[in-house]
Amino acid sequence: MAVRGFQVARAKPQVMAIAVAVLVVVIAAVASALAAPGGHHTGSARGSVLPGGVPGTGPSAKPTRGTHRAAPPPGVTVGSDNGPSVPATIQHAAEAPGKAVNITIDDGPDPHWTPLILKVLRQHHVHATFCMIGPQAEAHPELVRQVVAEGHRLCDHTVHHDTAMDHKPVAYQKDEIMDALEMIKQASGGARVYYYRAPGGAFTPASRAFAAAHGMRPLGWNIDSKDFDRPGVSVILATVKHEIHNGPTVLFHDGGGNRSQTVTALGQSLTWLKQQGYAFSFPKVG
Ligand SMILES: [Zn+2]
Repeated sequence: MAVRGFQVARAKPQVMAIAVAVLVVVIAAVASALAAPGGHHTGSARGSVLPGGVPGTGPSAKPTRGTHRAAPPPGVTVGSDNGPSVPATIQHAAEAPGKAVNITIDDGPDPHWTPLILKVLRQHHVHATFCMIGPQAEAHPELVRQVVAEGHRLCDHTVHHDTAMDHKPVAYQKDEIMDALEMIKQASGGARVYYYRAPGGAFTPASRAFAAAHGMRPLGWNIDSKDFDRPGVSVILATVKHEIHNGPTVLFHDGGGNRSQTVTALGQSLTWLKQQGYAFSFPKVG
């Protein structure tokens, strides 16, 4: 844009930084003012999670990492703070070479079940990926922070867990992803959200590309433990055993109802996987 008009080569770095900062603030203010009238859904949803931010009044007073500025232009601020863009194809592979499994835990955080799942993972020295629903992250930020502090990774699992979102407008899909990203990031204190998993696998090319552009790798699964249906601990374990040849990424749940079977079956699955010589990894991001 007009940056070329500055005598950038001769200016001192500090002066340049201030000049660029002022320019960015002015552009952001103009952009948010222009975007406001059409952004009902996005604006209201985000407004509920911003820490007292009032559109048009400049950066939030909260001294965090600058992630949550007031009234960011849709699709710009948080995504640009969530890491570089990544491939948009659905990932299943593990980062670790050789025989490795990615444990993924969906639909939380939940104030009762997530701590029990974390305890099992801790006891087995296993790190997992938690695919969180935005409002639940917002309601239980201490759990989100604990998940991150204990070495696990975060995954965006949308706002409303709408398994039919792939049949809805792209703008709706983007809001589901972006609003949840903001809620999870804010709850975590700014930790990176590495992945995006569509509820029920309801990905679309547009939603995958959007998530990937905001630093989140679309994340699939190879083994559905079917723990969500509560078939019994032995059945969940048997499903993991029978389907382990499908690939490395295993799906469990810490939300959506009574997860007592999951807690027990996860522990037994981890024990069995270790006996089979599996290591534990995260899905590849890049
Ligand atoms: Zn889910």
